[in-house]
This record gives sequence, C-alpha cells and structure tokens, in this order.
Amino acid sequence: MKKLYVLVAIICLSCAKQTDYRTPKLVVVISVDQMRGDYLDKYSSDFSGGLKYLDENGQSFVNTHHNHANTSTAPGHATIASGFHPKNHGITNNTIYYRNSRQSHYSILDTSVRFVGTSQCNLKRSSAKNLLKPSIGDIVKSHDPKSKSYSISLKDRASILMGGHHANRAFWFDSESTQMVSTDYYSEPFPNWVKNYLGKEIIAEDIVNGWLLNPKYKTTYDISKDNVIQEGGFFSPLFPHTLSNISSNQDSNTLIGDFLWNTPFGDKFVLKFAKKLIENENLGKDQHNDVLTISLSAADYIGHEFGPDSYEIEDYYHKLDQYLMEFINFLNDEIGQENYVLTLTSDHGVAPFPELASDSKPHAKRISYSKFLYDIDSIDLLVQKDLNTKESCILASSGYRGIEPKFEVLNNCDADTTKLINSIQYHVKNLNYIEETISFKDINYPKCNKIFIDKTRNSHNPNHGYFIKIIGKKNCLIGYSNHGTTHGSPLYYDTHVPLIFLGNNIQSKHKSDTVYTIDIAPTLIDYIGITDYLLFDGKKLGLD
Ligand SMILES: [Zn+2]
Repeated sequence: MKKLYVLVAIICLSCAKQTDYRTPKLVVVISVDQMRGDYLDKYSSDFSGGLKYLDENGQSFVNTHHNHANTSTAPGHATIASGFHPKNHGITNNTIYYRNSRQSHYSILDTSVRFVGTSQCNLKRSSAKNLLKPSIGDIVKSHDPKSKSYSISLKDRASILMGGHHANRAFWFDSESTQMVSTDYYSEPFPNWVKNYLGKEIIAEDIVNGWLLNPKYKTTYDISKDNVIQEGGFFSPLFPHTLSNISSNQDSNTLIGDFLWNTPFGDKFVLKFAKKLIENENLGKDQHNDVLTISLSAADYIGHEFGPDSYEIEDYYHKLDQYLMEFINFLNDEIGQENYVLTLTSDHGVAPFPELASDSKPHAKRISYSKFLYDIDSIDLLVQKDLNTKESCILASSGYRGIEPKFEVLNNCDADTTKLINSIQYHVKNLNYIEETISFKDINYPKCNKIFIDKTRNSHNPNHGYFIKIIGKKNCLIGYSNHGTTHGSPLYYDTHVPLIFLGNNIQSKHKSDTVYTIDIAPTLIDYIGITDYLLFDGKKLGLD
C-alpha cells in the first residue's frame, strides 16, 4: 500500500486541545448530493421528520453557496471537508484534463490501491492522494490520535474526499455485490460485519415493493405533470418505479445495485449502514471526538434523471425526511442530544429542466452535444479565417469543461496566442446560449471583471482543465439532448445549497447573510474546541 501520509503539514500552534462544555463526542456531516438551497423551503409542507427537526432546532444559513465555478461532486465534497477552495485543495473537477499529459483522468484515480474486504470488485481504484488539504476528520485525528474518523457514501468520490487522508476507513457502494467496499489506502483491518451487511438484504422489502409515490399525494397527483417526456433514463417517467419497470437494458449482475442508486432506498441503506457503523465501531462513546461524514448520492441520480421539479424529487425528500428522523432519533438515544453536532449541506445544486423553467423563456433550452460540436466546428472555420490559416484552431471541446485551443497552429501562421484566444472567445460568446467565456489569460489578469471571474479563479489550477471555460446562459443545458438535467456551472441554482448546524448550545434560528461552504470546516473545527488550527480559506461562522 502506498499512502501519502502528509501532503500538507498540519500546523498546530499548540497541540493542547481546549475542551469545553460544547465539545461533542461525535461530529456528523451529512451532504445530500444535489440538494438545492431552496428545497427546504419549497417542500416544507411535506416535512414532519428529520428535515423539519433540523430546520426548527438547528441554525440554518439560508444563503449558503459554493464559491467555486465547477460545481460537481468531487470539488464540492472536498471543499466541504477541507474548508478550502478547489484551487487550493486540488480537486478542481470530477474528471480533470491534465494539461501536461493532455489526458483526462478521474480526479481520485489511484491505481496503487487494492480493494479489501471483498473477493472481487470491478470499481475504479481510487483514493484521496490528490486531495492537497486535510479533511475535518484528519484535523481532529491530528489533535487526538484516539479520535476515529469514518466516511460513507454510495459514491466513491464523495466518501473518499469527505474522509480525507487519515480516516479509519471510507466506505462506498459496489452495485455488483451490494456491499460497501473500501481499499488498502486505509490501514486498519476491514470490519467483518460489513461483508455481511448487504444492500439487497437490508433493503429487501423496498426492492420487492418498488418505489411508489407516497399516498399523501393521491389527491393532488396529476399524471400529465408526472408524464414529462424528458424524465427518465433508468426508469420511465411514470410511477411506480419497480424492478420490472426499468426502461433501459440492464446487466442483471448489477440490476439490484443500480436500482438502489436510482431510488431513495440507496440513501436509506447508507443511513442504516451509518447507524450500524456507529454501533459496531463505538463512535461517540468516549471523550475523544469522533467524526462521521455521510454523503447521500441517490439524491443526485434521481435529480439528474427526473429534475428538481418532479414528483420523484418531492417524494425523495419526503422519504429522506423520514429516514433522517430515524437517524436523528438514533443519535439522540445512543449518543445523547448534547453529545453530537450534526451538519447538513450539499455538494452542489442543479438546473431545472429548460422546458419547466419558469423565469427565463425563451432563452431556456437544451443544446444537444451534436449541436454544440457543430457550433464549435463552425467557430473553428471563423477562427481560421481570422488567423488566415487553413488548419484547425480548436483541439478539444466539451460542454461545461470548455474549449482547448490548438496552440500548434501558431507555428504555421502569422498570429499570436492573444489573437487565437480572443478570436475563439469572441465567436463562442456570440452563440445565443453562452453567457460568458473565461480564459486562463482572463484569470491571470487582475483587472478582469467578467461575470463569475472570482468563482472561476477559485476553481482554477494552471495545470488543470481546458484553456477557455464557457458558461452557459441561465436554464440552458449544453450537451443534453432528450432527457435529464445537470449541474457544474457557477450559476445560482448550482451553487446554492442548504447549511444547518444542530448541536448543543447552537441557537435555533435562520440567518440570511451570505456564507460559503468553505466556512463549514472552520466552523466545525472551532465548535469542537480546536482553536489553534487556523489554516482555511473559509471563516468560522458564529453559531450563537
Ligand atoms: Zn450530479
């Protein structure tokens, strides 16, 4: 096992931990993948469980945003866990184009690790080695080696990046076995109980019954509003969503596992796993602060497929409300209300379906990937004309990831880098679905005041990504033909997320000042009582 033990020195001015009456025995961070900041309010009348409990008893920052441009899962979770912008924690996107090698790789790829606790696992081998900052759990363990830190998610990148470098273990989901798996990046023995804790058995009843719309919607259910042709992918648009009702051709090896990914039951399983982990690994039982990070990924899959305005998303949050109540009741009973702190947030938001977007017609539209490539090819011809060359001037392009100029063309024509970049940016911005283009030159020019320049700088690493980033107009989905929606932009609906802190001596209130997800780690670290760790991009939020 090759593990990079210290990527960044954890500077501690004094390692004496201040312990006060607030010091929780267990720190729980729950990220609901793709939970937008407006959902708590939008669906509040549906809630009677955990989400209502958190909203009423916790301190809620209703204007919380990710302050980076590439709002995808890996950067989002790394930011929540580290308190740093992607430009500093190193995880700038899910998949990163490495400029030196001109190749794109999964941001957490690590072929040196091996899966443990399972005889066979075909998932990508990955680890936190590219994360350049410590996680909340890493910081807590550096102050008290007897503290424990665990991380759980269906998604590898969510679990791994929230767990950081020194987690006792991060677990993620293998669809084939329906078991939580992990690698030898973590040095402790793989717990035996995990091998027998299978999603297909724990959630067996839900798998048999399928995903049915809650009967409470019976009186208001409008089949025409559910039968949106852009919905679906794994399932067809209409409820019920059952194993026999799957629309795509699925490999039977992973059918049940994929069913869990695409229904609320995947996240139900993760929360049940979390309870079992707390019991079996004795988390929150002694004076050493333990950390448990949980990411709920089925929310993201359902959101991509059905969109934020669907019955499915409403039903998901209604079910999550119940699952979270069960989890909070468990914490109250097992750990004690005064002995834990719980934070609820999300790694990013999501765009509405253009067809259902209420406030920006007629701009709202889908731009299919083939239409986008056609437009880029046409722009290539215009740039060639500007540069008086017959060679292609664009090396690569990919929707949200932007455009890479073909700089070699400058060897054979009478133009310089500035002319090439400016020409591409000028023509791309003329597309009626593009809000702005931001190049590396813009990022490095201190006086550049383009919209979203600061968020783009916070996502910027000079060795990562295409040279020209493009930002679509509001409610325009680039590269999405027929169905579904996505996130990944610096637009409001992608950056706005919930943020609630629940814990002893934390006042229950709503705060409206704008805060950022980089503020979560410093706030929790301070709340825990570690007051000598000062290295964050974010700031400590007052919880009084
Ligand atoms: Zn997503």
